[in-house]
Amino acid sequence: MSGLVVDAEKCVGCRRCERVCASDGIEVVDRRARVLDGCVSCGMCVDACPVGALAIERDEPGADTSGYHDVWVFSQVGSDGAVLGVALELVGKARELADARGCRLVALLGEHSDADDVNARALVAAGADEVLRTCDDRLAHTDVECFAAWLCALALERKPEVILYGATNFGRELAPRVAVTLQTGLTADCTILEMDRETGLLQQTRPAFGGNLMATIVCPNNRPQMATVRPGIFPAPEPREVGELPVTDVLLDAAVYGRVHVLSREKAGDGVSITDAEALVVVGRGIGSKKALARVERLAELLGQRLGCSCEIGCTRPVVEAGWLDYSHQVGQTGVSVAPRLLVSLGVSGAIQHLAGISGAETIVAVNEDPDAPIFGVAGYKVVGDCLVVVEELISQLER
Ligand code: FAD
Repeated sequence: MSGLVVDAEKCVGCRRCERVCASDGIEVVDRRARVLDGCVSCGMCVDACPVGALAIERDEPGADTSGYHDVWVFSQVGSDGAVLGVALELVGKARELADARGCRLVALLGEHSDADDVNARALVAAGADEVLRTCDDRLAHTDVECFAAWLCALALERKPEVILYGATNFGRELAPRVAVTLQTGLTADCTILEMDRETGLLQQTRPAFGGNLMATIVCPNNRPQMATVRPGIFPAPEPREVGELPVTDVLLDAAVYGRVHVLSREKAGDGVSITDAEALVVVGRGIGSKKALARVERLAELLGQRLGCSCEIGCTRPVVEAGWLDYSHQVGQTGVSVAPRLLVSLGVSGAIQHLAGISGAETIVAVNEDPDAPIFGVAGYKVVGDCLVVVEELISQLER
């Protein structure tokens, strides 16, 4: 039984519990507290009791976690019809988790009715053992109600031990709906995922308290264990050879009814997507002014030409707050995570909230006039000096 309990040995009948109770949930008779039907277990009286005679006891759910197996990845398809990069990154990570647990890795794919095998092939090439696919026009648009109904029905029937989602806008909307329906937990924006191979507990680590510490969260009593991960946190796996496609087509329940009708699509802000950039110049407050951006853009253009890819501009939060760049450029805990091959960081201190977004970068070149700036702790190449001078020098070298 859960609820408020009184330790009669300790109670001194002081009536403080009665006075703080807002719901007629407790009374004192013959110098002893007694719980009444009105008690809502709010705990106000527990805090007020000076002798520790009151406590709230809660039943642990004690759900049966046996019979759950396999790691699933919800593989979101973008508006261009291709599976998103974050889904492939998650499949790569899930491969490690499934191997550690000795179970199968299943990718979930919901597409429009005339989809071909391209997305299923990409997921198998990334490491999935099986693709559970539903081709149905009700899944053609990002109608979260349809997707949640589809995913919950599959999970109830097949009992996955883990489900991972990309922390895209849609993934962030879908995963909590599934969590509530399946009565399980969900950890958002994980940056580290590890599997305890004995217990099958997924160690879900994410920044907490404004990024000042890392919290590892487990979900011991409920299944499936669910987490979202932002794009760029894990590297995309190298595609492997694919033979026969292990695709299982499943039907969407006829009773699922789509209520979303997409009338048109519009891009927010200036439409920059730095998440998938192969090269990135990231500017911090140290560049001094918005005016300096013109030279930074020139540097990015030249680097892009030199590397044979597009080179985008990212920034820290103060740069967005100053109005020098739009939010779509912000890198970090409250911006986006990036995983470029090359990241040139200019006048960025390297606060933990910013570093949370650049852990996927392959090579970091940092320029800062402070030799003790934390950004140097993660940089492969460190230049101590004025970033604007270094930008000019790089431009002139590249132009030559
Ligand atoms: P500063 O900390 O002011 O650093 C400027 C740096 O430039 C200094 O190291 C200085 O030595 C150097 N410098 C100055 N002049 C020059 C020069 N001429 N040449 C070379 N170097 C120079 N921040 C993010 O970036 N992204 C986030 O997503 C984010 N989310 C946050 C979430 C929360 C909950 C909180 C509390 C904070 C968040 N922040 C985020 C803010 C973060 O804590 C830092 O304040 C921010 O990253 C600092 O940005 P900065 O490095 O540009 O500026």
